[in-house]
Amino acid sequence: MNAIEELKEYFAEIMRLHYIQVTLGWDQEVNMQNYKSLEGRSKQVSLIEKLIHKRVTSEKVGKLIKEAEELADLNEIESAMLREITREYNLATKLPEKLVTEIAETSILAAKDWREARAKSDFSIFQNILEKSVELQKEKARRLKTHPDMYSTLIDLYEPGATYNWIANVFNPIKPKLIDFVKKLNYSSNKPDDSILRKYYDPDKQFELSFEIIKKLNYDLGYGRQDRSTHPFTSSLASMDTRITTRTSENYPNECIFGTIHECGHALYEMGIKKELHDTILCNGTSMGIHESQSRMWENFVGRSKEFWMYWYPTFQKYFPENLKNYPMQEFYRAVNTVQPSFIRVNADEVTYGLHIILRFELEKELIDGKIQVKELPQLWNSKFEDLLGIIPPNDTQGVLQDIHWSMGSIGYFPTYFLGNLYGAQIYQNVLKKIPQLPEDYRKGEFSNLLNYLRENVHQHGSVYRASDLIKRITGEELNPNYFMDYLEKKYYPIYNL
Ligand code: ZN
Repeated sequence: MNAIEELKEYFAEIMRLHYIQVTLGWDQEVNMQNYKSLEGRSKQVSLIEKLIHKRVTSEKVGKLIKEAEELADLNEIESAMLREITREYNLATKLPEKLVTEIAETSILAAKDWREARAKSDFSIFQNILEKSVELQKEKARRLKTHPDMYSTLIDLYEPGATYNWIANVFNPIKPKLIDFVKKLNYSSNKPDDSILRKYYDPDKQFELSFEIIKKLNYDLGYGRQDRSTHPFTSSLASMDTRITTRTSENYPNECIFGTIHECGHALYEMGIKKELHDTILCNGTSMGIHESQSRMWENFVGRSKEFWMYWYPTFQKYFPENLKNYPMQEFYRAVNTVQPSFIRVNADEVTYGLHIILRFELEKELIDGKIQVKELPQLWNSKFEDLLGIIPPNDTQGVLQDIHWSMGSIGYFPTYFLGNLYGAQIYQNVLKKIPQLPEDYRKGEFSNLLNYLRENVHQHGSVYRASDLIKRITGEELNPNYFMDYLEKKYYPIYNL
């Protein structure tokens, strides 16, 4: 066995430990919502974290990496494996065990405080632990120092290779265009009416229907399942076990339906990784941005298209005849594509969504740079919200407390969501060029041509190619946000009769 083969085998065990940790996390989110204490679980999670850390940072790994670097005939996958293992090793050896353990424990306790603060709409309950969490993230960034500025170092954890400046250069030109576009749509005298979506829809029926949809989208229930949780998410508990969660809101079926399609898109990515990469360090989406490109493609470009609804609407009507029996499909399609500034990111339409992200991106940068303090967040959140979206959240539950990310210590994660929209638009534009009949497929309830294309070009590769290489391989150019604006204009002008 040569050094790279040994590393591959060694990291297969680390991956399995990682899957155990994910399993504990999944169980916590799905089954332990009402527990009074998470102390036991918190200690288990940090034990696994410690075991992983110990293994990744062992001398053996350092020695094997050096040996593997000398090997002349590494193939593409082996080179990528070495790249990712080296990255993992560097990240882990720069962090002392004490810091890693403290971060893991703090995030569990912070999740508890966040939940309480959110329920009571009282930021002060969350403030202390968030301050600690931010300091720990800064400490982490100082030690990792992948980039000269701390925020870029944190971003790099989720979007390898990306920096604050690179993202700001992508977001800044699109920000005023989005603000203008939202205003323009709202000047229309023929806006969609989404009151049909504010009626009562039986939550159990919503859940049942969401199940029908994911089956049709080729989510394989032999390798996963769907449950409910406070915040929808996708988890791989093993290379062949990718689970999703959803939530239902009785007066707003969008949360369940589009949330489910979104998580299904994430799951299809992980489920499509080729066998050769299973249990290896490459058995992951290559970046959070590319991951999000897959979920948002299914959620928005497919799930909010007219053809999708031409197929699904009769089924919807059967599930909810009291609301929809006499309601025309075309109006329902317009309703699910209503663009309206609103407070909650996960429920935001695809046009205003980017503005929710830009707000977080800008706040995080200043927070990490120490230009603003944690205690100022609620007020800064609200004033920025007004600048970008023209409205002010009525309370912190609908403002600064809505997302779980900061409680988990995930700072630098948010920008990847919007990058996902942008990557998605560029990839989707390319798919449509190659398979122009796709919308016709959806009209017939046929989704495998799109899935096969994505499997072939994106999914199977796991993290063999970095995001910037992958987008060039698929589309022949670097990330170009114009595709997203083009997509919005083509879609929304007809919906708004502009
Ligand atoms: Zn997502």
